[in-house]
Amino acid sequence: MPYWDKKHETMPLQDLKELQLKRLKNVVRTVYEKNEFYHKKLKDAGVKPDDIKTLDDITKIPFLTKDDLRQYYPFGLLCVPLDEVVEVHASSGTTGKPVVGAYTKNDLEVWGEVMARSLYANGLRRGDVMQNAYGYGLFTGAHGFEKGAQKIGAMVVPISSGNTKRQITIMKDFGTTALASTPSYSLYMAEVAEEMGFSPADDFKLRLGLFGAEAWSDEMRKAIEKRWGITAYEHYGLTEIIGPGVVSECEEKHLHINADHFLPEVIDPKTGEQLEPGEEGELVFTTLTKEAFPVLRFRTKDIAVYTEEECECGRTLPIQSRIKGRSDDMMKVKGVIVFPSQVEEAMMKVEGISGNYVLVKERKGAMTSLKVRVEPTEERYSQGSLGKLAEAAEEEIYAMLNIHVPVEIVEPNSLPRSVGKAKRVVEE
Ligand SMILES: [Zn+2]
Repeated sequence: MPYWDKKHETMPLQDLKELQLKRLKNVVRTVYEKNEFYHKKLKDAGVKPDDIKTLDDITKIPFLTKDDLRQYYPFGLLCVPLDEVVEVHASSGTTGKPVVGAYTKNDLEVWGEVMARSLYANGLRRGDVMQNAYGYGLFTGAHGFEKGAQKIGAMVVPISSGNTKRQITIMKDFGTTALASTPSYSLYMAEVAEEMGFSPADDFKLRLGLFGAEAWSDEMRKAIEKRWGITAYEHYGLTEIIGPGVVSECEEKHLHINADHFLPEVIDPKTGEQLEPGEEGELVFTTLTKEAFPVLRFRTKDIAVYTEEECECGRTLPIQSRIKGRSDDMMKVKGVIVFPSQVEEAMMKVEGISGNYVLVKERKGAMTSLKVRVEPTEERYSQGSLGKLAEAAEEEIYAMLNIHVPVEIVEPNSLPRSVGKAKRVVEE
């Protein structure tokens, strides 16, 4: 049986929409009655719970932004008494106050369920050994993966991030079959494994990569799969929504939205207007079942496409494309919109380019210029004539974006490594 929750993962779209509407009505009524801020926000917009008669009526509800969440830090948006909250998480808060996620017992149950769905869709089973190299702490990542994996009955190794040599030793000794981490950290782990004298693709039992928390390209995915000899899956989520578990990536590598719990919309980031399936825009989510901290129309700033096409895997849950980038990361270079993930995708097509790179942004007045610093693989580096490699990378970038972006080849192991989210854009 390929599904964790066959009923919800394969329900006819019409039934799903009916369930979504029933739950939407319920959550709108709850926030209206239980939370002062939401009550005022809806009242100011002239919306009453009874005005939600169809799914389209959701557009009457104003958006919720990260700034709203910060304004009501830490518990101002709770819809249950504080003593019903049994776990809290928070985002890193590097750009202001952190965003707090609060969970009731039932919220944790839902979180475990959607994560089990995602991990089961990736092929994780009882008997697997999942090395959990996301950072344990306030960040949701590690905890979501742990809850889902344990629900399935897999063994969790809660090693957290960092201490990379120890990660490799544990991976070998414990017979790790699944690695949960950021994609960039998995590449760093492969480097360290090689330094320790291992061949990552041959010397471990690893077969699954459970990656998330970063925008990464399909080309990067292929590079990681080859290096480790694994199948790599994408995970997507946000602290504001629940953490990881918003989508389940199936064997066809389609990201099915767990839309019985999280109602997706795609909007034009400029006008806020709802877009049709198939059109690219900003993802917006409404939580349908969360009790402690429901969000209505939360603007994620993540750019993607939403579709309701049938999938070979048999799941009927709608599909979102991989995240092209965050609207915050979008750069305008020589009049062209550029996402870091596009530059990554172009460069990774060139044989001998490694996954370690940074985009260097330089501002001169209103103009932004861009260049790339990238490491070649050790093997390619030793062959010399690096100018040719830079040229090949520049050509691929030009083919994708139609702008010339200079590529600087730097020595292997000279760019900073991260054990969590990689910092891909720097300003100089
Ligand atoms: Zn599918």
